[in-house]
Amino acid sequence: MAPSRADWRSRVLTEVDASADELAALVGGLVRIPSLTGSDAEHDLLGHLATRLLTDGLEVDHWQIDLATAYADVGFPGIEAPRTQAWGLVGHLPGRGQGPSLLLSSHVDVVPPGDPRTWSGPDPFDGALSGGSVHGRGACDMKGGLAATLIAVRALVRARAPLRGDLLIAGVEGEEDGGLGTFATLARGWRADACVIPEPTGLDLVPANAGALTFRLEVAGQAAHASRRDLGVSAVDMLSPILGALAALEARRNADVDPLMSRWPIAYPISVGVVRAGDWTSTVPDLLVAEGRMGVALNEPVEDARAALESAVALACAQDPWLREHPVGVQWWGGQFGPGRLPPGAPLLAAVGRAHAGVGGGPQEVYGVPYGSDLRLMVGAGVPTVHYGPGDGGLAHGPDESVPVAEVLTCARALAVLAVEHCGT
Ligand SMILES: [Zn+2]
Repeated sequence: MAPSRADWRSRVLTEVDASADELAALVGGLVRIPSLTGSDAEHDLLGHLATRLLTDGLEVDHWQIDLATAYADVGFPGIEAPRTQAWGLVGHLPGRGQGPSLLLSSHVDVVPPGDPRTWSGPDPFDGALSGGSVHGRGACDMKGGLAATLIAVRALVRARAPLRGDLLIAGVEGEEDGGLGTFATLARGWRADACVIPEPTGLDLVPANAGALTFRLEVAGQAAHASRRDLGVSAVDMLSPILGALAALEARRNADVDPLMSRWPIAYPISVGVVRAGDWTSTVPDLLVAEGRMGVALNEPVEDARAALESAVALACAQDPWLREHPVGVQWWGGQFGPGRLPPGAPLLAAVGRAHAGVGGGPQEVYGVPYGSDLRLMVGAGVPTVHYGPGDGGLAHGPDESVPVAEVLTCARALAVLAVEHCGT
């Protein structure tokens, strides 16, 4: 008698569990490749993954992205890290036909570790295992999730699960500074009937994310000797009314948010992250440049969000005698993440929830997240997508980032079962 769907589920789970002992080493090894956005190590990691997928018996598309063509596209999502090259990677396990395809996609890039002294351990990239978690920059964002997809795919291959639909696994570069890798993967023609991006959700279900727009403000002052600062206008002082206007704008934009976002104290933050001003301590500064990011609400057109910030800044300028004559310039550059949302009623959300529950996962919540991600590019291209992955997203981009190995294992089990159920046998 041919094995039933339930038989295949248990066979792939047996294969996943056979890899359980290697999981911490796998995640640790991925963390030890310091794949900072825009660095050579980003490409090294992708090459390492390509080799692994080939070894696993997948068809592998590992291509160099034509950056000039990508940058020239009107839909290009932007970059912040300078690049001379970028690569794409899709592993493909062809199905037997007549089944829906599934894509498991992870970004391979990480953000810089910040001041190493703020980390408990000696090296933010040591990938050490302690307390049941792997530690290091990128552990939860998102090498734990990446490892879960690698384990799930290997288990499906080893179990010889006869999937009807295609199974795809992607590694993408440049997510942290805009979404270059996913943009290029879609531009190359890769599509699927469903996609899971295992960003760190603590194994909750995330069908939506806010957008994030990087902006730059140029505030003019009037230089003078600091001993006669009465003769000048400090660009630093002139930032104050602008910061006040941004805070008021943020409050207005968060007064009434979509229920999917209501769990967050500030669903759509506006935050200035970089300020540069002045060139001499005894000179009143005549220029200040401030750079930050603005959250975009679910379903809000990016143009509307930009217009809201521009008009708040313009209004603040109109109320100040100096700024009225020297209005603050607003530029949009770098990462330009629109919001994204799985269409309500799409069956993928419940399917991932069933797979999670079916492998003994705990209770799940469903909500949107306040950060930009590749979900919006996938959904925008017609690929239903959810985030479901191991680790606490609150640890991402901070010191002492980590991911619990047990959550990586649960995620791998759920993704393997999801493939069996979604692609069909
Ligand atoms: Zn991430």
